[in-house]
Amino acid sequence: MNRYERILEIIFKNTEPHIQVYREPWKILISTILSQRARDDQTAKISEKLYKRYGTLEELKNADINELMETIRGIGFYRAKAKHIKDIAGILIDNYNGRVPDKREDLLKLPGVGSKTANIVLGVCYGKDYIAVDTHVHRVMNRIGIVKTRNPEETERALMEIIDRKYWKKINEYLVEFGKNICRPISPRCDICPVSEYCNYYREKIKRCS
Ligand code: SF4
Repeated sequence: MNRYERILEIIFKNTEPHIQVYREPWKILISTILSQRARDDQTAKISEKLYKRYGTLEELKNADINELMETIRGIGFYRAKAKHIKDIAGILIDNYNGRVPDKREDLLKLPGVGSKTANIVLGVCYGKDYIAVDTHVHRVMNRIGIVKTRNPEETERALMEIIDRKYWKKINEYLVEFGKNICRPISPRCDICPVSEYCNYYREKIKRCS
């Protein structure tokens, strides 16, 4: 186990993992799209509303776009997301017999699906080893100093180089919660952080204050 993996182990031990509410792959995919740049409570509320109104992929495919927009209104970028969701439902039915593809290159061709969303689907639905890097994972990894990167895509690549495969799937599950509750975007709670002794950001902060 290298130094970075030891830090991850400490975070895993001290953090409650993020729990996936849905089991059906298409709902996991659609809810992950809804979650882009949105808060968890909003995503949960709007997802529930959406699946209550549209219980199957067919219903989503045939949805009236204005009605669909109205259903998910309240979540950021709801117009674009509604369009993506309707288009994805059509593509899954027409090209994949209603199944969510299990290949990264196929997922990335779907509208509104980027690296993070594809990796979450592959990890959660198909048990594949991928690192899903969102803004929380990106921020935490850079603050600690595990990587030095400019965006989540670079972070994903850098982590794959230095972290053993067996940790990949767990990174999103735990680091997102850790980033929301402890290593918050504003006012990180360094005073109660279990990895402060390893953290570059914390070290710099102490130096500035002394
Ligand atoms: S010490 Fe502070 S900045 Fe470093 S990981 Fe913990 S909460 Fe984040």
